[in-house]
Amino acid sequence: MDLGLKGRKAIVCAASKGLGKGCAEALAAEGVALTINARGAEALEATAAELRAKFGANVTAVAADVTTAEGRAKLLAACPDPDILINNAGGPPPGDFREWDEAAWHKALDANMIAPIMLIKATVDGMIARKFGRIVNITSAAVKLPIPQLGLSNGARTGLTGFVAGLSRQVAKHNVTINALLPGPFETDRLRSTFAAAAKTGGQSVEQVREARRKANPAERFGTAEEFGAACAFLCSAQAGFIVGQNLVLDGGAYPGTL
Ligand code: NAP
Repeated sequence: MDLGLKGRKAIVCAASKGLGKGCAEALAAEGVALTINARGAEALEATAAELRAKFGANVTAVAADVTTAEGRAKLLAACPDPDILINNAGGPPPGDFREWDEAAWHKALDANMIAPIMLIKATVDGMIARKFGRIVNITSAAVKLPIPQLGLSNGARTGLTGFVAGLSRQVAKHNVTINALLPGPFETDRLRSTFAAAAKTGGQSVEQVREARRKANPAERFGTAEEFGAACAFLCSAQAGFIVGQNLVLDGGAYPGTL
């Protein structure tokens, strides 16, 4: 299926590894010119080189912290008029809410709510003027099914979700869509680090923790960055213009609700 994206321009935040990289790969395969981002320049340049070699893609790598105004300015200077914006950043740490002071909350909000909103604000009017825009926010299945120890993430991401629920309805008539992808367990560095932490506190091996988590999922496996990227590319496609303000859970069926 041709997704009608050849020649489009995309900013993909937090894309040197994991889910962001999966999205960058899927868009590169569709002929999208990419501006990819992460803080660490080395891994980012390696990903950019990989995308160029594999897909012949036009890739600009911008090493910057997307949770800061300066980082976002660098990103927007490299690609001021994207057709596609994939919002992503690292997730906040787990813990007990009694440990989180105001600074911890501001950090989580900056990363998982304010940064995507500021990038949307900077790019959405150009998309409206050009009559095409696709914005995908990478959030978390925890938006639907909160994980108590990830309270910072639950709070910040749900705030973003509430804001775009309104905005997405205001911009849809211009063929600009805003949707979110809600990952459940995808086997990335982030997930592997949670196995290691759980193994340490629970007195189990990392492999025991991994196996228990795998078996607990209805699909009895973890998701892959490739599958995540494919869903992202479809939401960005020309064909997906009528999908507006949705929160798509990708979790192997772990969310237990009927709807
Ligand atoms: P990952 O494998 O650890 O990759 C994170 C990527 O984001 C890296 O490229 C990292 O590069 C970049 N990054 C992190 N902080 C950044 C920042 N401030 N500015 C720019 N780039 C930044 O993580 P992932 O599993 O793909 O997760 C992506 C998002 O999905 C996270 O918010 C995570 O909490 C959420 N999520 C993941 C899962 C899962 O199962 N994997 C489930 C639910 C939610 P640098 O470190 O070099 O910056």
